[in-house]
Amino acid sequence: MTMRDEFPVFKQLVYGKRLAYLDSAATAQKPQCVIDAVVNAYSNINGNVHRSMHYLSDQATQAFEATRIQVKNFINAKQSKECIFVRGTTEAINLVASSYGEQNVHPGDEILISGLEHHSNIIPWQMLCQKKDARLKVIPLLPNGELDLSRLDDLLTDKTKILAITYVSNALGTVTPLKKLIDRAHAKQAVVVVDGAQAVPHLKIDVQELNCDFFAFSSHKMYGPTGVGILYGKESLLNAMPPYQGGGEMMITVTHENTIYNEIPYKFEAGTPAIAEVIGLGRAIQFIEEVGFPFIKQQEQVLLHYATQKLQEFPEIKLIGTAAEKISVISFVMAGIHPHDIATIFDQYGVAVRGGRHCAMPLMDYFGLPATVRISFGLYNTMEDIEQMLHALKEVIRVFKKQRISKYQKEV
Ligand code: PLP
Repeated sequence: MTMRDEFPVFKQLVYGKRLAYLDSAATAQKPQCVIDAVVNAYSNINGNVHRSMHYLSDQATQAFEATRIQVKNFINAKQSKECIFVRGTTEAINLVASSYGEQNVHPGDEILISGLEHHSNIIPWQMLCQKKDARLKVIPLLPNGELDLSRLDDLLTDKTKILAITYVSNALGTVTPLKKLIDRAHAKQAVVVVDGAQAVPHLKIDVQELNCDFFAFSSHKMYGPTGVGILYGKESLLNAMPPYQGGGEMMITVTHENTIYNEIPYKFEAGTPAIAEVIGLGRAIQFIEEVGFPFIKQQEQVLLHYATQKLQEFPEIKLIGTAAEKISVISFVMAGIHPHDIATIFDQYGVAVRGGRHCAMPLMDYFGLPATVRISFGLYNTMEDIEQMLHALKEVIRVFKKQRISKYQKEV
């Protein structure tokens, strides 16, 4: 049995073709064990968590809280109460911007992000800056898609209250020098929020070793269900922060005049959470751990290097983002052919990629591009997927050459 066989989605043909799924950076496919865990949660232990006094509620609560312990171990947090269930990376970052930002960012303060960021790690900070009359600064890029750290001393100042930075770029695959940036930010007393959405499926995360203050990620990018993600935060910071939303379970007592809030993590988990999905995330973590990061890294690097090398053989192709340290993503453009057209033709050949701006419009602006084609890998990808993509690419070139010739013939 191969890794691909663990994923039922690959049993089907698309347009009669084998599916080469090269869009894991958008969302990863789910192994049968994760699907089974979600089905089992709904079939056998469906009850609300932390409230009702009956068997099903108790079973659901146990499974839900067991996932929190798995998450703690997975990212090596000190304590499981530092791991908050949210809807995803987007909500995790918004939570920090709203709650921590509300309390700690003041007029004249600065928030530093980078030119690589996904909109989820730009807009919440922009909103906060507008509200607080603070300033958003940006670490610029180098033409190869790495961060230009030559001006970091000017950018990271005593006014910097928050550094919000991605670990891995979703559009280019650049891996940022995270530990170094965290240490530099801490030297200026800034807290560091890490967007780990694209890192967690590929790299072993150790939040204690990184010493980041917050770390956000999404279950659906790491073979788990949609609708759930994690905000890790250091206990002392989370304890001092006001709740993000009010509602059930985030309180201890409520009168019409006042509310005494619950402890962390529950203070930040108002309302009924995505219970079955959290349980599915627990199974996804187990799955990743069984496969192991050494295998994942080795497999994905082989594919990354092979595909990069093959794409470079096409004179029509320009790779966007060639950082020395990059993982799992290749972005490219082709002269005279819009990325949407490439992605649409790829699709007809069973090759799923993303053609677009990748929720990173400022990054596209930096490269002066409307969009790129993005190939991204997961642990189920094989050389066959690359070959299928290369075949589709040759078809794209053939189709467009033919179109150009017939256009030329019409003109003369
Ligand atoms: N940050 C990065 C780097 C991402 O790639 C994504 C999703 O593509 C997000 C944040 C947002 O994640 P979600 O949509 O799961 O909240």
